[in-house]
Amino acid sequence: MAYRTVNPYTNEVEHEYPQATDEKIEKTLTAAHALYFKWRDGGELAKRKQIITRLGALLRDKKHAMGELITRDMGKLIGEAEGEVELCASFCDYYVQRADQFLAPTPIYTDSGNAYVLHQATGVLMAVEPWNFPFYQIARVFIPNFLAGNPMILKDASNCPTSAQAFADLVKEAGAPVGSLTNLFIDYDQVGAIIADKRVQGVCLTGSERGGQAVATEAAKNLKKSTMELGGNDAFIVLPDADIDKLAAIIPAARLYNAGQVCTSSKRFIVPDNLYDEFLKCAKEIFSSVKMGNPMDPSTTLAPMNSKKAKEKLEKQVALAVENGAKVVYGNQPVDDLDGQFFMPTILTDIRRDNPIFDQEMFGPVMSVYKYHDVAEAIDLANDSSYGLGNTVFGKNVSEARKVAAQID
Ligand code: NAP
Repeated sequence: MAYRTVNPYTNEVEHEYPQATDEKIEKTLTAAHALYFKWRDGGELAKRKQIITRLGALLRDKKHAMGELITRDMGKLIGEAEGEVELCASFCDYYVQRADQFLAPTPIYTDSGNAYVLHQATGVLMAVEPWNFPFYQIARVFIPNFLAGNPMILKDASNCPTSAQAFADLVKEAGAPVGSLTNLFIDYDQVGAIIADKRVQGVCLTGSERGGQAVATEAAKNLKKSTMELGGNDAFIVLPDADIDKLAAIIPAARLYNAGQVCTSSKRFIVPDNLYDEFLKCAKEIFSSVKMGNPMDPSTTLAPMNSKKAKEKLEKQVALAVENGAKVVYGNQPVDDLDGQFFMPTILTDIRRDNPIFDQEMFGPVMSVYKYHDVAEAIDLANDSSYGLGNTVFGKNVSEARKVAAQID
């Protein structure tokens, strides 16, 4: 299996990494399992807190260098990459401040006697993470588990190996013992074998439904705990009293942040007929004013997509939407003047519920806009999705907006 950094702006292969051997996996499991035994009584929590504090400091010190690795791996804007590194540092602060509280035993008082629940390590965990936030996706699973005393084996996306290794190297530099977080360049069969190993207690995956089903199946076969954080097709309901200027200020972040490749970004905009034309005009202005270009240049506002494969998938999805009656009101033209994996931001309307794209996530800079007449219709549209994750309700009257939000599944 190829682990490669292919810079999505230049299309150049910058790094390639050999696949890990089964011997390396065995060594990793042995070291990780030994650490679990060392940590399971919670005794080294103070030491682990110091290590995470150091990790936060290292992330802040090396923000630009780490951001650059992220940008080269998967193309995001350098400002967004640096913001991601800073966010990871803030997780270090958050969990160090609360570790004692989170890990304190919970007492239970009953008529038949007193008891307590111990919050302690469970053992070695496997983490399978995606490319869209190469540091954040690792940080948010690694930091709390490390503090709890769970050693972790990481299988990161094959297209961002350099940042995954850099994160693991920073953890080591912060003083974490061997086995705390081991990044392995492994194939899907090796992931299955690790999940099946009796020293491994569970697996978490962030990614697509396809990847989630495969890894959850391995976990189920072996009766291991699993958590799956999968795709989203989040609705953004605009209420009839919405302030269009305030809306205009958040649309770029809601749909175009990280080139639209965010599980919880708003993908379906559900707009009342009184604001529909104005909304489309405003969205077109925003989409047509982006500046595509070198993601390392701070003046660029829309980055390339993370890979050729992702861009081609999105092109096919837009074509499918159009074949089934969707209208392109902006975009969907080739970006000929740049070599990277750029996708022109695109606005689609007239997607009927029988259009196959209606219930598919489009993971890139494509906005779908739906028109509604009364709010019940908007709620029904938002709920008509097989995806979960988040939704947004946007209006002036906050208590009305909350009533609508409460009806979103
Ligand atoms: P993906 O193909 O499922 O990849 C995610 C990770 O799973 C990668 O490390 C991938 O490795 C691995 N993987 C895939 N199939 C596997 C298998 N059969 N066995 C073992 N590992 C496997 O996901 P993606 O399409 O690149 O990522 C985008 C998706 O992630 C979107 O749907 C997005 O919404 C979702 N996402 C969800 C969240 C959330 O928190 N809910 C956050 C971010 C993204 P390889 O790279 O080697 O294939």
